[in-house]
Amino acid sequence: MTSSHPTQHRASARPARYDAVISGASLAGCTAATLLARAGARVALLERHHSPTAHKVLCTHYLQPCSYRVLDRLGVIPALREAGAVANEAHWYTRWGWIRPQPKPGADPLPHGFNLRRSTLDPLLRAHAAETDGVDLLTGHSVTELLRDGDGRVDGVRARTSDGEREIRGRLVVGADGKDSTVAKLAHLRGKTHRNNRFSYFAYFRGLKSDGDVTRGWFLDPDVAYAMPNDEGITVVAVIPDKKQLPAFRDDLEASYLDFVRRLPDAPDIDAAERVSKITGTTNYPLTTRTPTAPGIALIGDAALTSDPLWGVGCGWALESGQWLATAVGPALAADGDLGRALDDYRRRHRRGLRGHQHLVTDYATARGFNPFERLMFSAAAKDAHMARHMHLFASRLIGPLRFLNPLALARATAVNLRHRGA
Ligand SMILES: Cc1cc2nc3c(=O)[nH]c(=O)nc-3n(C[C@H](O)[C@H](O)[C@H](O)COP(=O)(O)OP(=O)(O)OC[C@H]3O[C@@H](n4cnc5c(N)ncnc54)[C@H](O)[C@@H]3O)c2cc1C
Repeated sequence: MTSSHPTQHRASARPARYDAVISGASLAGCTAATLLARAGARVALLERHHSPTAHKVLCTHYLQPCSYRVLDRLGVIPALREAGAVANEAHWYTRWGWIRPQPKPGADPLPHGFNLRRSTLDPLLRAHAAETDGVDLLTGHSVTELLRDGDGRVDGVRARTSDGEREIRGRLVVGADGKDSTVAKLAHLRGKTHRNNRFSYFAYFRGLKSDGDVTRGWFLDPDVAYAMPNDEGITVVAVIPDKKQLPAFRDDLEASYLDFVRRLPDAPDIDAAERVSKITGTTNYPLTTRTPTAPGIALIGDAALTSDPLWGVGCGWALESGQWLATAVGPALAADGDLGRALDDYRRRHRRGLRGHQHLVTDYATARGFNPFERLMFSAAAKDAHMARHMHLFASRLIGPLRFLNPLALARATAVNLRHRGA
């Protein structure tokens, strides 16, 4: 692939009717469009922004290791590396000390993801989708309405463009339009909203000395912070404190943010680095869990689940859910097969992959302290290499909470702690 800017296809080349109409050409939408088209479907990929290089600004760019498989399937890993993506490795500070997962001696490196700023990542994935045969990228198209056929079945969307309204017909409408998804609202896929009792602020630093390319996370129970090395020597430093501190914090944002970072154990030396951005963030960011399907409709990415900013999972899950959708519905769309059954498969896959994680994410968003299981596992991971690797698989979202907390792992964690107490 090239990393040139995406282009719109000529109007005359567009089919009158698509198999899928996707609202939102960000991580989830571009992944689904590319993979659906490869499966033989004709895809209209609509994006409300006019510029093909638009990107999400509120993000700290950590792509979890669980997204590696999808990036590999898309075929973009060489382009990511060329763009300066940093292969990420994560260490976490807890009150029991640092958890630093390492591979077994002589074994392969641990699975990793990438850190790459969205200003580079989003245009790159959009260009990749636009260059895929079967995808028409339509920028400057804002979805405003769902269209239905005479039998009431979903049959496309109405979009607002600078030339007026357009109807774009398709058998499947995909909401890849982020946390405030218009498609979800139009389809009445309301779901559940969870209170987020933390706020977040972050800034970019150049020349911040770090531990190689390691991303560091501080779990101060309940406050959280991260330092994440990205492309071009930029490190994103994010703080995610309990909301109780917000009024005082906001009184002097600059001083509060800098003070919070300086007080971290083994703090990143921000005073020896150059800050190259303002301090930005979110003070009210409720999380959402929606049923990801309805007849003729699918939601992917944040439109289905909003889970950040604390864990840095939404980008990886946007990629994964885009892939799961394409795998489930691609053949049915391309061969005029049973779309209803294919959507059921997608809904089940989504649930199996993310329901357990999202349960923990929304529970921890209350700003509660660690529960006894978390205390047991994290304290053991700080002391024992095997437990640290196990923690890495869970934090990378390569295994779910049930495998993380399996009886053998709990027994091992207990034994590690007893041994250390004895020592
Ligand atoms: C402060 C913060 C930090 C974060 N940090 C991380 C991190 O480090 N790692 C991580 O994995 N996740 C992180 N996230 C979450 C991550 O940004 C999202 O999960 C991710 O962007 C979701 O991708 P998406 O493709 O589903 O949606 P989005 O990236 O939100 O894209 C939605 C797209 O739909 C378009 N759109 C919206 N409405 C319409 C419409 N009506 N018609 C047409 N187009 C429309 C938008 O313009 C946009 O391009 C963070 C979130 C926040 C708030």
